[in-house]
Amino acid sequence: MRCPECGYEESKVIDSRSADEGSAIRRRRECLRCQNRFTTYERLGERPLIVLKSDGSHEAFDRQKLFRGLLIACAKRPVDPDRIDAIITDIESSLRMSGTAEVHSKDLGEMVLARLAGIDDVAYIRFASVYKDFKDAEEFSSALKGLE
Ligand SMILES: [Zn+2]
Repeated sequence: MRCPECGYEESKVIDSRSADEGSAIRRRRECLRCQNRFTTYERLGERPLIVLKSDGSHEAFDRQKLFRGLLIACAKRPVDPDRIDAIITDIESSLRMSGTAEVHSKDLGEMVLARLAGIDDVAYIRFASVYKDFKDAEEFSSALKGLE
């Protein structure tokens, strides 16, 4: 698991517990390089959600990528990483509950914005100003970095 702060590949697990009624394992990890702590979820036997990108390609929904994008949008803002994690969990649960296996990246962006709106105005504007054009979360992260 790559550290969302520094990108280092090695981390240690400091806590594991089951989540979503046993369908996932939530792990708290600590980066072995920068000691940043972050949360990962490992889904057990679920079909992956597919994100359809604006260029017509698709990829598996990736919590970590979305988390990194949101972390950058919320940089230096009073938004706790656990709050970001909760936003993503909420989006993922909504998608799964809706029974859909696919989501357009644009709709995913809208879902994020709808949740950011009530949390932090600056993070909302940062996200809104670039999400329209982003093809995937990596590209979005780079665009946001350019705004800092
Ligand atoms: Zn790190």
